[in-house]
Amino acid sequence: MAKEAARNIGPVVLLGPPGAGKGTQSKKIVERYGIPQISTGDLLREHVRAGTDLGRQAKVVMDRGELVPDDLLYDLVADRLRQPDCRYGFILDGFPRTAAQAGWLDAFLDREVFEKKQEKCPPVVIRLDVDYNQLLQRLAGRRSCPTCERIYNIHLQPPRTDGLCDVDGTKLVIRDDDREEVVARRLSAYETQTRPVADYYHAQGRLVTINADRPVDEVTAAIFGVIDTHAAEHSDCEPSR
Ligand code: ADP
Ligand code: AMP
Repeated sequence: MAKEAARNIGPVVLLGPPGAGKGTQSKKIVERYGIPQISTGDLLREHVRAGTDLGRQAKVVMDRGELVPDDLLYDLVADRLRQPDCRYGFILDGFPRTAAQAGWLDAFLDREVFEKKQEKCPPVVIRLDVDYNQLLQRLAGRRSCPTCERIYNIHLQPPRTDGLCDVDGTKLVIRDDDREEVVARRLSAYETQTRPVADYYHAQGRLVTINADRPVDEVTAAIFGVIDTHAAEHSDCEPSR
């Protein structure tokens, strides 16, 4: 759980293909700025584990490496963004993933977050760029903790004790959709359905691209630089609720 944010950061959108480091970097942003990470992948996996209707519908699609239909995501994201811990900002990790989702998000922010403010506090949109072969290597070695969702890599970021989460000692798991044949489909879904999201933000002059093919700490420093600059430029934005 994030500590209470000291200042208003506003929405942070992390874009990038599977394996780019969105989850890893989100945890760093949570620690520094005290705003929560909202990962639609994590939210969907919670529903899958809980066996809800949504979880059952999503699982079939996720196991194929395809995107869950847009309309299954909107209530999930809206309910989460309405929680009080999102008041000073939030990190969207894995959302929006289609141009329609990006349009929905803008409308939601206009309607529910900005309407009470004189000054709009627009999202800062950061795209993490990583070479295709490096993505394959990262996804092949990814392990995650099913309890706290912390992310490891057996080659690049191993846990202190082989196979166990550093935080809570839970046995680490390989995500079903990190299997080789599913990974290829997920990367292809990114190219066809998610790249237009970057184009959407680029056309509005809101996209900042970071070379994420570097050690974790270097990428983190670059992201903090972008967020600090953005927050300073919009220091007059008031908390949303
Ligand atoms: P995403 O959320 O974008 O799918 P993750 O944060 O889960 O990506 O990272 C994918 C894998 O790559 C994980 O195993 C993670 O430990 C590893 N990883 C993330 N960032 C880096 C980095 N900068 N250098 C090396 N490995 C990384
Ligand atoms: P992630 O944990 O972000 O890699 O997401 C895992 C899977 O969840 C994806 O491959 C999709 O099937 C599904 N998913 C997560 N976020 C979205 C989204 N915004 N739109 C559609 N499907 C999503």
